[in-house]
Amino acid sequence: MSRENQFDVIIIGTGAGGGTLAHHLAPSGKRILILERGDYVAREKDNWNSKVVNVDAKYNTKELWRDADGKELHPHTNYYVGGNTKFYGAALFRLRRNDFGEIRHHGGISPAWPISYDELEPYYAQAENLYQVHGNRGEDPTEPPAGKAYPWPAVSHEARIQHLADDFRAAGLNPFHTPLGVMLDEKNPRLSPCIRCNTCDGFPCLVHAKSDAQVLCVDPALQYPNVTLLTSALVKRLETDSAGREVRGVIVERNGVPETYSGSIVVVSCGAINSAALLLRSANDRHPNGLANSSDVVGRHYMGHTNSVLMAISKCPNPTIFQKTLSVNDFYFGSKDFEYPMGHISFVGKLDAITLRTGAPAIAPGFTLELMAKHSLDFWLTSEDLPDPNNRVAINRDGEIVLTYAPNNLKAHDQLKEHLQRAMKQNTCSIHGHECHQGLFARNLYVGQRIPLAGVAHQNGTIRFGRDPKTSALDINCKAHDLDNLYVVDGSFFPSSAAVNPGLTIMANALRVGDHLLQRLRVPIAEYAANGSKSTVAQLAGG
Ligand SMILES: Cc1cc2nc3c(=O)[nH]c(=O)nc-3n(C[C@H](O)[C@H](O)[C@H](O)COP(=O)(O)OP(=O)(O)OC[C@H]3O[C@@H](n4cnc5c(N)ncnc54)[C@H](O)[C@@H]3O)c2cc1C
Ligand code: SF4
Repeated sequence: MSRENQFDVIIIGTGAGGGTLAHHLAPSGKRILILERGDYVAREKDNWNSKVVNVDAKYNTKELWRDADGKELHPHTNYYVGGNTKFYGAALFRLRRNDFGEIRHHGGISPAWPISYDELEPYYAQAENLYQVHGNRGEDPTEPPAGKAYPWPAVSHEARIQHLADDFRAAGLNPFHTPLGVMLDEKNPRLSPCIRCNTCDGFPCLVHAKSDAQVLCVDPALQYPNVTLLTSALVKRLETDSAGREVRGVIVERNGVPETYSGSIVVVSCGAINSAALLLRSANDRHPNGLANSSDVVGRHYMGHTNSVLMAISKCPNPTIFQKTLSVNDFYFGSKDFEYPMGHISFVGKLDAITLRTGAPAIAPGFTLELMAKHSLDFWLTSEDLPDPNNRVAINRDGEIVLTYAPNNLKAHDQLKEHLQRAMKQNTCSIHGHECHQGLFARNLYVGQRIPLAGVAHQNGTIRFGRDPKTSALDINCKAHDLDNLYVVDGSFFPSSAAVNPGLTIMANALRVGDHLLQRLRVPIAEYAANGSKSTVAQLAGG
């Protein structure tokens, strides 16, 4: 292999895990190759077109997977520089401190993590800084302890959401400002990169003001001459030495042509489903069940949360533009009448009639879809799903991904819906009183894309980390137990899914693993720090 194709570190995937790690390692001076199967998202007016994004699904992959019955599955996922962070809603939560311990749920046990919240805390703080999280500490009763304030003030509520926050508070709840990664400067709107628009959650940001992994991590990393990015570079297989202890070859198909690269360290970060698929496809004589899979856990314990979109229709209109500012965690760990954890309540971006048509909800009496969209508060409910070894990613004979998933812990989600329903009934308005609230209507998010599973946006758990090589594939540094130079830093490593969005935990963990790699590569701290100050991130962050 030519010297040109040999690197110190190869990172596969540029999302929340891979992009963040690339940024962290860039000042090390080590030769780093980033391989990304997608290209950059084109900057075009379609970025903010609801029909193009939500109905035509222009930016979703056209790849086909299969469900357990062999039926076609159109995954709601995106292959671009920045990964799914290009499209995410940028609600950037820390897991709760108790989420790191074992928790008894109505549907079973959520297992403990092999590291504690306190070990991840400094990296959460770094990740919040890097991704410019806007929030207010002290409002959320389940919030874990934090050493620092959020780097930016919370994004304010618009009038209708403020009204709801006041109503919830009057009903004894503790609504709080959702921590958000949008580069909004409300004090200085003329210069604010973010314009607070209605096409954020699920859309790429046309003005590059969303805190995504491309804008804040990959592009700044590429300012370093030691970092190379290859786009449209699909990694097909990893090959090992004859002893099976080291990854020696990374086999890539780039523009239809096969290429081979090698790295002293190889980091897989393709997203929880594709990373498991890559390891399974890389089976060889030494690793007959797939790479790093002597435990037989690779691909198993797939989790993706139980998520619902519930529209609360009121007689009063909801003219909110940017709706994702409010969350409620009062039922996260249980309530007086249901002692098990239920989950997290927040918002999706404001739904419009075009988007509603793709997953038509039951129509509220006397309303059209247009009217419903104008009058709805569009809640996003997330409950923890538990790691079941039979919920898994596998590869069929044709090399296609097969995703098997039976939902679990559903009683918790039903209870969460019921608790929200009760809280909404206590809402009043000065014109209609309690009659203002017409009820909750479920919207099936995925009817338009014909996805029979719950969707894969929050995918995690398929290559779990742990201390015991018999029950986990990765050690606590996210290095494969079975190999000396293979790491995984995307959402695969989660032993349990908790019930808040996974993005910030993936970012924080990538920074933690990044520190381990800097030590392993013996990067002198002084040199690293001096190089780091050249980073453009400080300017981008307005720091
Ligand atoms: C619409 C939407 C809204 C969301 N909202 C939120 C939110 O508000 N808050 C939150 O925390 N999370 C949210 N998420 C989830 C969040 O985006 C993911 O948890 C996060 O991006 C996962 O990071 P990752 O590194 O595991 O994978 P990804 O971000 O998916 O990155 C994986 C990368 O690997 C590349 N890749 C895959 N296979 C290969 C291969 N074989 N070779 C080369 N490259 C490959 C992919 O193209 C991709 O770039 C949302 C997701 C979606 C889709
Ligand atoms: S301008 Fe702001 S609200 Fe609009 S997509 Fe970009 S980050 Fe989101």
